[in-house]
Amino acid sequence: MTAPTKHRVVIIGSGFGGLFTAKALAHDDVDVTLVSRTASHLFQPLLYQVATGILSGGDIAPATRDILGTQKNARVIMGDVQDIDIENRTVTSRFVGRDQVIEYDSLVLAAGAGQSYFGNDHFARNAPGMKDIDDALELRGRIFGAFELAELATDPDERRRLLTFVVVGAGPTGVEMAGQIAELAQRTLRDEFRSIDPAEAQVILLDGADQVLPPFGERLGRKAKASLEKRGVDVQLGAMVVDLDETSITIDDADGGRREIEAVTKVWAAGVAGSPLGKIVADQAGAEVDKAGRVHVQDDLTLPGHEEVYLVGDMINLKGYPGVAQLAIQGGKYAADQILRRVEGREPAGPFKYFDKGSMATISKYSAVAKIGPLNFTGVPAWLAWLAVHLIAMVGFKNRVTTLLSWIITFVGDSRNERVSTMRMVFARNAMDDLGHEFAFPGLPRPEDASPGEREAVRRASADDVSERDEPA
Ligand SMILES: Cc1cc2nc3c(=O)[nH]c(=O)nc-3n(C[C@H](O)[C@H](O)[C@H](O)COP(=O)(O)OP(=O)(O)OC[C@H]3O[C@@H](n4cnc5c(N)ncnc54)[C@H](O)[C@@H]3O)c2cc1C
Repeated sequence: MTAPTKHRVVIIGSGFGGLFTAKALAHDDVDVTLVSRTASHLFQPLLYQVATGILSGGDIAPATRDILGTQKNARVIMGDVQDIDIENRTVTSRFVGRDQVIEYDSLVLAAGAGQSYFGNDHFARNAPGMKDIDDALELRGRIFGAFELAELATDPDERRRLLTFVVVGAGPTGVEMAGQIAELAQRTLRDEFRSIDPAEAQVILLDGADQVLPPFGERLGRKAKASLEKRGVDVQLGAMVVDLDETSITIDDADGGRREIEAVTKVWAAGVAGSPLGKIVADQAGAEVDKAGRVHVQDDLTLPGHEEVYLVGDMINLKGYPGVAQLAIQGGKYAADQILRRVEGREPAGPFKYFDKGSMATISKYSAVAKIGPLNFTGVPAWLAWLAVHLIAMVGFKNRVTTLLSWIITFVGDSRNERVSTMRMVFARNAMDDLGHEFAFPGLPRPEDASPGEREAVRRASADDVSERDEPA
């Protein structure tokens, strides 16, 4: 058994932060291990297009192994990280009952954020969020399925419930989702049904705040709202969701009134919560965690007292920087540079500074809002800029080509190619929740049941694995 000689960088997450850290270390004399619970790099900004039948999951989620295949210093491991021990410098991950304990010299935590239901996690059952491919495919099934059920319904009230779509949260994701459902109903499905007129579908966008797209400023928010309303979306502001079930959603209005909207399909685009891994390391280092679960990192993205542990992207709370892809990309590149400086014995760079490249959101075909520096623009120019920026930002040539083709089909012809949806897509998540761990992983122990002794055995076995890999051939 030989001890590894190269500096071992472990990265958690294959999203923007994780992938760009790994790529930034491509030409360096370090050993990179990227651990992620998903096998792909997900381009979250286009998830809503998967949910509404424009793009396939593969278009926006290329395999991480494929992307890093030629990067010889990088190894990809599937695993849901369960624990991090920052004193002993280990990461414990699990994949279908198989545990791995991975030792590191530097750690980059880029595990992103999940959906937050603000303490009402049971809402998830009837109002899926939009954070991953599972969410998008489930929503696709629910949206297209609602039209199918409405075609069969004979009771006008039931039909109305089925044709009412409520999107909660008027940030970019909610705005894009509401705009796309309206466009789907009015254009794509226009001639396809015989008992219903899909254009009669009601799309409601709710938010507790008093404006649409708050980060874009008052003027662009007003324009986005007007543009949504022109496309038939009913925008209801000052509306707080207090409850929801299979067929309805209950709202407290700003004037103190309470009301109920009958709607089968609900989409939750209202809040984010930093990965729980943030709290695991923050507690050990004595760092603070904000209400959204994001860690107050130091100016150089490290944990206090741990120059070898970096946090990037959606997991951090630093100087009010926004939770956007560029923050994660820039943070990943910065962390990679700092690690290399340390390995090479060079001085660390100055504090991390986020460079704001602007924000954009589409509303529907030919309509978007964009804010780039002092420039605010809307309509077709913003929409074209949005298309170009997103196409360039995607990782992988093949994905860009297939996405461009799908956009041409949708935007020129109004049709959508990716409408596959099955009963399992819609119901599998809830069924798995109901049936529990034993159903999904029969005979395999729960992560929380592993004893310290079992963990130590796994650590030793994993260390042997790594050493074998480092043996000269
Ligand atoms: C629907 C939607 C639309 C968006 N639109 C835009 C936009 O238009 N423009 C923009 O700039 N930003 C947008 N964002 C935000 C942007 O996508 C995020 O800021 C960005 O993805 C953050 O990158 P990250 O690397 O921190 O996290 P992520 O990209 O979320 O990556 C997290 C990674 O960690 C992995 N992971 C999580 N937990 C574990 C664990 N326990 N063990 C192992 N792996 C784990 C995940 O599988 C994933 O690979 C959008 C986000 C969403 C959800």
